[in-house]
Amino acid sequence: MAVAELTIDLAALCANWHALSSKSHTETAAVVKADAYGLGMAQVAPALAQTGVRQFFVAACEEGAELRAILGTGPEIFVFSGHMEGDTALIRDANLTPMLNSIDQMLRHVEALPGHSFGIQLDTGMNRLGMEDAEWRALREIALAQRPALVMSHLACADAPDHAMNPFQLQNFTDMTDGIDAPRSLAATGGILLGSDYHFDVTRPGIGLYGGLPFAQARPVVHLSIPVIQTRDVLAGESVGYSNTWIAQSPTRVATIAAGYADGLIRAMGGDAWLCHGDTRCKVLGRVSMDMIGVDVTELNEEPSALDLINAHQTVDTVADWAGTIGYEILTSLGARYKRRYLPT
Ligand SMILES: *Cc1c(COP(=O)(O)O)cnc(C)c1O
Repeated sequence: MAVAELTIDLAALCANWHALSSKSHTETAAVVKADAYGLGMAQVAPALAQTGVRQFFVAACEEGAELRAILGTGPEIFVFSGHMEGDTALIRDANLTPMLNSIDQMLRHVEALPGHSFGIQLDTGMNRLGMEDAEWRALREIALAQRPALVMSHLACADAPDHAMNPFQLQNFTDMTDGIDAPRSLAATGGILLGSDYHFDVTRPGIGLYGGLPFAQARPVVHLSIPVIQTRDVLAGESVGYSNTWIAQSPTRVATIAAGYADGLIRAMGGDAWLCHGDTRCKVLGRVSMDMIGVDVTELNEEPSALDLINAHQTVDTVADWAGTIGYEILTSLGARYKRRYLPT
């Protein structure tokens, strides 16, 4: 078999949710947008629901409708992008709660679906989504009279605990929402770790559930094992891979493994990346190809049948560092070609 095996540990995922949940006294939701950060909403969401998650967040109504079909009635499903044109039927039929981002969205929602639940998203400085202060002030009394299910905002720099943006946004959010009856939410994974001032009534972790930074204590959720297709010996002076970027200085045993940039192992990680065989680390040689990578297995005493790229020792964040990106991007890039195996809760 020449496809890599991606193992997703649902027990570790649920343990991460409980660990993040125990850091606050609030309701802890779960963010499962982008197919649960690439790990599979169809498997991830039921595991989370079963372990106690009652509120879920997705990016788009289409994702929300898919999630509703998976979860059935019961859990609340919030949609960050709010009520866009064309969303009305999905919102009604799947019983979604759009986070309204503007006066336009508010008008669209109350006209199309009067009495249907909604939330409000406020911009507190990130300038990405949500009503600005002036817009909110104009709408506030009307909106609050319709009893929003949630009022939320999002932090831009929560992964940097000492960043001045955090207290700045906290102050803005507090000024904009103090005294309202509706439940409030400000913190994603990073915000949970900033402490109780940031927790309000609902927290919305995503990346921490899936084992990524900034939740450094997370249990690893993802394991990626890549089969070796072929091994060969190269002599000093011979090259490996496209464009001859790696040239052997001494005799080297090279394994060609069956995954590449088409599987989300982005080319940029190239020369800095390592694979693991037990406790031995094996260096990537030359360029990452579309479906293959060359690896130095000279140090191994046996012919490996597979090598690990992601495991308990090198996480999605380690791989992200090699590629100059973040764990979020590695997770959401994980390819469709992998054989996926889910360890039960
Ligand atoms: C993606 C997202 C989250 C989850 O963030 P993590 O950093 O993955 O915990 C929460 N809220 C909003 C608005 C988001 O876009």
